[in-house]
Amino acid sequence: MATRKLLLLPGDGIGPEAMNEVRKLISVMNEKFGCGFETEEGLVGGSAYDAHGQSISEADMEKAMAADAVLFGAVGGPKWADVPYEMRPEAGLLRLRKDMQLFANLRPAICYPALASSSSLKPEVVEGLDILILRELTGGVYFGEPKEITDLGNGQKRAIDTQVYDTYEIERISGVAFELARTRRNKVTSMEKHNVMKSGVLWKDVVSQTHKAKYSDVQLEHMLADAGGMQLVRWPKQFDVIVTDNLFGDMLSDVAAMLTGSLGMLPSASLGAPDARTGKRKALYEPVHGSAPDIAGKGLANPIAMIASFAMCLRYSFNMTAEADRLEAAIAGVLEDGLRTRDIMSEGKTEVGTTRMGDAIVAKFLSLAA
Ligand code: NAD
Repeated sequence: MATRKLLLLPGDGIGPEAMNEVRKLISVMNEKFGCGFETEEGLVGGSAYDAHGQSISEADMEKAMAADAVLFGAVGGPKWADVPYEMRPEAGLLRLRKDMQLFANLRPAICYPALASSSSLKPEVVEGLDILILRELTGGVYFGEPKEITDLGNGQKRAIDTQVYDTYEIERISGVAFELARTRRNKVTSMEKHNVMKSGVLWKDVVSQTHKAKYSDVQLEHMLADAGGMQLVRWPKQFDVIVTDNLFGDMLSDVAAMLTGSLGMLPSASLGAPDARTGKRKALYEPVHGSAPDIAGKGLANPIAMIASFAMCLRYSFNMTAEADRLEAAIAGVLEDGLRTRDIMSEGKTEVGTTRMGDAIVAKFLSLAA
């Protein structure tokens, strides 16, 4: 049995509390099913700054580069509000994304039937929703040069950001989209603004060419990103995989996320290119939420976003589809049973803390395997 190397970076605030619940799952999967997970631990964010004066140490960066997958909790908090900019907690996450070249950000928006009534949209619009937003993460307007504010000398200033994409960047993200779609409902919607942006014209062309060359079995549609935003809140179930650039992806994935309720429920994955020799992609899995300093240390954090991130890790880094399906079914099952952490609590349900929610998911996972 090959070992599966995981690096756990719990981080700050509720990060370690949520990560504890994933540790339980890893132990159970090793002990009961011989899954062969080997874990290492590291520090990131404020906790790394306190220990090493850096938001992630070189030694932990090396561990991240050598791992099959990195599980990341959350970073930040008021304690580190005044540390120098380059050493701020978030810099650790940005360094990981940059050095591991994680260009593909996957944000599923799944609405568990038991939570359909807590969405701001009508239950029939979101119940059973299962879509995936794929955002290009390392290019586009957030990184393009020039990026500057210049003084025009007449009392005016000019701010410039540059939206820039090369063919290879669009090819590789659209390739990931088509491959993901093949494992789902086989449909990709590409979103850009080719009516007003040159980068949108190239985006649309390259996505179409990539589709024609290698993925013509997948259904492809193009949509303007603003229309896509409207469709997401009108009838989100029309989508399967949405692929879009860094800026539109940032916004559209937040919109899609909120269709499904609390921040405490939302997982994500960031993937790099496949290794030329092994075919394995570098990968980092993290909940969408931050370190939630307001509830840290109180045992109130919802661990589902972190656990669902681990389910994504099973699916995308280790091809453990059955286990990933079972873990997601275990999450749906405990919600069906009426257990709720405070952030998703509603009348008539049973409020539980982080540990009890984690224990219930482990127990359900085991019972579904029996
Ligand atoms: P946040 O996501 O930490 O919290 C927003 C609100 O949602 C809070 O009321 C919090 O209690 C609640 N919440 C979040 N996760 C929850 C969970 N799992 N269970 C129950 N409730 C949950 O965002 P914020 O308050 O804007 O930021 C706090 C800190 O986290 C800041 O330092 C910020 O920079 C950092 N941050 C880090 C990341 C990351 O590590 N990827 C992401 C976002 C924010």
